[in-house]
Amino acid sequence: MKNLAPKLTHEQYEANFAELHPPFTPNSAVAEANRCLYCYDSPCMKACPTHIDISTFIKKIATGNIKGSAKTILKSNWVALTCAKACPVDVLCEGACVYNERGEEPIQIGRLQRYAIDWYFEHGMPPLFAPAPKNGKSVGVIGAGAAGLSCAAEAALLGFDVTIYDANEKPGGLNTWGIAPYKMMQEDAFKEVRLVQSFGVKIQSGVCAGKDIALGDLEKKHDAIFLGVGLGSASRLNIPGENLPGVVDALDFIGKVTTRNWHSVDVGKRVAVIGAGNTAIDAVTEARRLGAEQVMIIYRRSREEMPAYDFEYELAKSEGVQFQFLTAPSRIIGNAHVEALECIQMQLGEPDEEGRRRPIPVPHSEFRIPVDMIIKSVGQNIEQTFLAQIPNLKIEGGKVWVNPYTLQTSNPKYFAGGDCINGGKEVVNAAADGKRAAHGIHEFCFGK
Ligand code: SF4
Repeated sequence: MKNLAPKLTHEQYEANFAELHPPFTPNSAVAEANRCLYCYDSPCMKACPTHIDISTFIKKIATGNIKGSAKTILKSNWVALTCAKACPVDVLCEGACVYNERGEEPIQIGRLQRYAIDWYFEHGMPPLFAPAPKNGKSVGVIGAGAAGLSCAAEAALLGFDVTIYDANEKPGGLNTWGIAPYKMMQEDAFKEVRLVQSFGVKIQSGVCAGKDIALGDLEKKHDAIFLGVGLGSASRLNIPGENLPGVVDALDFIGKVTTRNWHSVDVGKRVAVIGAGNTAIDAVTEARRLGAEQVMIIYRRSREEMPAYDFEYELAKSEGVQFQFLTAPSRIIGNAHVEALECIQMQLGEPDEEGRRRPIPVPHSEFRIPVDMIIKSVGQNIEQTFLAQIPNLKIEGGKVWVNPYTLQTSNPKYFAGGDCINGGKEVVNAAADGKRAAHGIHEFCFGK
C-alpha cells in the first residue's frame, strides 16, 4: 500500500487499543450491584434477547455469590462474556433500566455481567451444568460463531452428540474475527469455545461444509443440522476503480486487527470508510488507532438514517472521525493504487420500501477527496452458493426462512439462526437463536 501511516511503538498501539470499559474491582462491583432496585417486572430482562435474569444475577453479586451469579447468566446465554463486552447495552438492557426514567445513570449491567463471567473463567470454569444422559441422536452444527456455539452447548446439555464444522482456522466466528480489540480480545471468544467443548462438543476447524465435507454425508451422519453460517461475501460498490490496490473490505481489515499484530496491519494516512453501520464505525476508529492521520465516513444518507448506534457515532466523533453525510462514492481514482475518491452530493427524496428516505444524486455536484485507503462496509450477502446445495431451503428477502418458534427451515432436517436468518443483528440475537434452535431440534427428534 502507498502512503502508509507511520508505524507506532508497541506501547502506543497498546494504549490506543486499551479496553474502553475496564473491569470492576470486587468493591466497585458490589457497590454497583447494591444500586440495583431489583424491579419486580425487570424491564432490563425483557430488553435482553436472551432474557437473562438480570436482577437475580446482580443480587447474587451483591451478596458475594459470584459463582451463582455466573450460573444465572450462563443458563440463558452461552456467550455471555462476549455479550457483556460487545452488546449495545445502551439500547438493550441498560437502555431499559428504570434509572433512565429518573434521569440517573442506569445500572452498569454489562460490566457486572463481565465481572461474574470473568470470575467464572478465572476460577477454571467450575462445573455448573450437568449434561442429560446421551439421547442417542446426533446434531451437526455448521459454523462456530455465537449461534453455532449456543446451539451446540444447549444440544449437548439435552443429551445430543454434537459436532461443529467451521471453515476458519480458529473457532468463534465474528466473536473471534469481527469485534474491535478495544471492546474485547480474541482470547475471550476462545474461553467461550472451551466452555462449549467442556460439554463434550467436538469442533472440526478448517472444515468447510459443502466443500471439504459433502452436505449429503453430514445428513447421513446427523439427525439434524443447524446452520449458523452467518453472512457471506461483502457487498460490492459496483463503481469503477473498486479493484485497485488500497481498497479493502471492512471485515478483512477488522479481522487482521483482532489478531493484535498491530505492526503487520497497514493503514493509509488518509482513510475513507464507505458505509455508516456499526462495522463501519469499528473500521474507521481502528484505522485511527493504527495511526491514520485523516479518517472519514462516507454515507449517502443523513445522520438520521445512519444505521450505527448513537454511542458508536459519538465515540467515533470524539476520536476525530469526520462524517461526510449525503455523499455517495461514484468512482475510485488511482494509477496502480487508490489516490482519490470521486463522490457525488445527494439529497433525500421519498421514503423507500423500508421507510427510509431515498438518496437522490444532485446533478453536477461531483467532487474529489484525496485518500490513500478505502474501506468498504456496505453490508454482506447471504451464502448463496452454499445454501443452494440444501434441497428445498426457502430463502425469503435475502434470509433463510425459519419457523419463528422452532427455527426449523423449510427443509425439516435443517434448523438455522443468527445472521443468516436476521440479515445481521447482534451477537446476543445469535445466542438466543442457537438456544431456541436446540430445543426445536429436540422437539423434532423426540416430539413434545
Ligand atoms: Fe436493576 Fe435497572 Fe434492572 Fe431495575 S431495571 S432490576 S434497577 S438493572
